[in-house]
Amino acid sequence: MGYARVRSVALNGVVGELVVVEADVSHGLPGLSLSGLPDAALHESHERVRSAILNSGERWPTQRITVNLLPAHLPKHGSGFDLAVAAAILAAAGELKTGPLADAVLLGELGLDGTLRPIRGVLPAVVAAERAGMRWALVPPDNLTEARLVSGLEVRAADCLGRLIGYLHELEALIEPPPAPPAPPPAGPDLADVIGQERGRRAVELAAAGGHHLAMFGPPGAGKTMLAQRLPGVLPPLDDAAALEAMALHSLAGTLPVGGALIRRPPLQAPHHTASVAALVGGGSGLAKPGAVSLAHNGILFLDECAEFSPKALNALRQPLEEGVVRLRRAQGETTLPARAQLVLAANPCPCARPAGDPHCECTSLARRRYQGRLSGPLMDRVDLQVSLEPVGSATLLGLASGEPSASVAQRVLRARAAAEERWGGPGRTNATVSSTVLRDVPHRLARRALAPLVREVDQGALSARGFDRVVRVAWTISDLGGRAGPGRDDVNEAIELRTRRSS
Ligand SMILES: [Zn+2]
Repeated sequence: MGYARVRSVALNGVVGELVVVEADVSHGLPGLSLSGLPDAALHESHERVRSAILNSGERWPTQRITVNLLPAHLPKHGSGFDLAVAAAILAAAGELKTGPLADAVLLGELGLDGTLRPIRGVLPAVVAAERAGMRWALVPPDNLTEARLVSGLEVRAADCLGRLIGYLHELEALIEPPPAPPAPPPAGPDLADVIGQERGRRAVELAAAGGHHLAMFGPPGAGKTMLAQRLPGVLPPLDDAAALEAMALHSLAGTLPVGGALIRRPPLQAPHHTASVAALVGGGSGLAKPGAVSLAHNGILFLDECAEFSPKALNALRQPLEEGVVRLRRAQGETTLPARAQLVLAANPCPCARPAGDPHCECTSLARRRYQGRLSGPLMDRVDLQVSLEPVGSATLLGLASGEPSASVAQRVLRARAAAEERWGGPGRTNATVSSTVLRDVPHRLARRALAPLVREVDQGALSARGFDRVVRVAWTISDLGGRAGPGRDDVNEAIELRTRRSS
């Protein structure tokens, strides 16, 4: 006979909220009832918790057991409440003292034998516990290194329910986190490996400096994938908050690399063109699984062979890229996941992957038109930088030493970003995101002389009004990289050339 309460965390998307797990053991027909809007997975936890308690050598109360999860309105998904439910039941039955758990959260799924299994989303759950003022968190051993990333509260692990029981009886110690590893060296491919391809290198540097979405067109061998993979290495490294935010999404997806250090390099996600809408934007029943656009949060979403993606898939990316969040409709309401990603598209000039105008191309004009059609539309409208790349000839490869390394390009990118932030009024502001109004108004409106080539393009119908603003944004980035106070005619000319896919 008794009552006890412990705490756990419920996740909605990547946002956690403290949950009180209360248990009451009283006279009445033996049995367990769970309440507090638990989902199906939580009902399954009934059997797991019962077997785990018995197999840990404890008694299962032969009275009426009521377990309630509060607040009731929160949707509660997944198996991560098992440990808290088991502890609450044992404490209510008078088998355990929960004093040391008063300022702790318990996270983990129980196996039938009582072992504690890893769960998805431990990182955001521990972040929520820390923000709610909890002093420590108990997690499965396999989640210990990610939990330790959160400074401001202690983390401990238990390999099984028996260890938690032993700890509360002061017979056993919990598992301490391993010592923090040294900061990992900046990993990833380097721009020094890209020989020649000045145009592609320039496009990558501009994309990084201005935060612009980038599209690269060219036949296989033009280095599109190589260039895309090197963009994260020239972007500013993630600060603590941004790194934690990005890693929380990978924790939720269950794709967090082991290692236990904050990852500073912006993530790159390269989903295959056969990827489903759910794989791109997220979904699934129970605890929502982030899609590629969320796993690319604070980094790069690279769509290779983008014309091969289904129109439905590309369309599904529009809203997340506009708002910076994915909105998933769920049974219990809407779940949002962060999705502020920079887009990089790559495509062949023709469905047969031959260069444009190649005499061996046998594609029908209809096939070509259909293919080109997929490379336009609302998604492509948002891409400031659209460049054509040619394969690098062997003469170039033989004649050139290795390219400029990523580290020195990254220095210029940092300076250019700082200039843009100062001009547009705050951290995180980029040329790609500044509003058209600000762009067209004094004091930032470009001089008539600088705009002349751009006005000509619009008059000739080569550029839309929307394209006009995008060229101006890129011109600002070219000017920032050059250390100039504002774009001149040459900057505008280069930006036009990049925008209209003209080859150099
Ligand atoms: Zn063709």
